[in-house]
Amino acid sequence: MTKVIAIANQKGGVGKTTTCVNLAASLAAMQKKVLVIDCDPQGNATMASGVSKFGLEKSITNVLIDGLDVKEAIVKETEGDFHLIPANEDLTAAEVNLLDKFGRENFLKKALEPIKSSYDLILIDCPPSLNILTVNALCASDSILVPLQCEYFALEGLTLLIETVDQLATAVNPKLKIEGILRTMFDNRNRLSTDVSDELKKNFGDLVYETIIPRNVRLAEAPSYGKPAMYYDKSSVGSKAYLALAAEVIEKTK
Ligand code: ADP
Ligand code: MG
Repeated sequence: MTKVIAIANQKGGVGKTTTCVNLAASLAAMQKKVLVIDCDPQGNATMASGVSKFGLEKSITNVLIDGLDVKEAIVKETEGDFHLIPANEDLTAAEVNLLDKFGRENFLKKALEPIKSSYDLILIDCPPSLNILTVNALCASDSILVPLQCEYFALEGLTLLIETVDQLATAVNPKLKIEGILRTMFDNRNRLSTDVSDELKKNFGDLVYETIIPRNVRLAEAPSYGKPAMYYDKSSVGSKAYLALAAEVIEKTK
């Protein structure tokens, strides 16, 4: 059974893209067939996978707007042993274009149907807002993985996100669940981080992954080499943390 997971949090800079690309590479290293879909006009997941977002011939935009067969948009040569549907700023236009279409929230879900069964896991990197692209991602997904930085306003944002997931579940995608909450860029010397982390555990229990992603400079450097961290510095604590996360994700899908 294929599992589709949206990596989402309406806040920017919390580690969505880093999680998407490094989790994908780690799952692929564990013999899973993985597809990453870049759903953010910033194209960061595309670049971090070793694919240039500049001058893309085919992208997620063509799939959503021009009805391009999704197979045609898949890039098989990435630096992470996974497949990728890339994105760039053309997707901003797609966002506007989708708004006045009938059934606008289901375009991605419909587009994925013919290829879904070819993969074990499909990870969707969402933009930092709750716009129509994110709604498309959430409608196409079985569950949502929420990267969260343990800081003061994090829990408030999480509550908003969970309300949105509940609303979407009622309106359009009843099976949508929270896959897990991931603590990212964690610094255990920081008292606030550990307090927020404890609060998170208290409120969300088993939904919080055991794995914590530490703040690690290798994770921040790897994208500038167009590589997931495990292919840039496989001994780094960052790449090891994402391997541990992949093991947890696989365990949960059993
Ligand atoms: P988002 O996709 O949510 O906007 P990113 O994954 O792009 O967030 O991360 C934001 C910035 O923080 C990027 O520059 C990224 O390289 C860096 N970063 C992400 N995770 C870590 C980490 N665990 N340690 C250090 N830097 C990180
Ligand atoms: Mg991002």
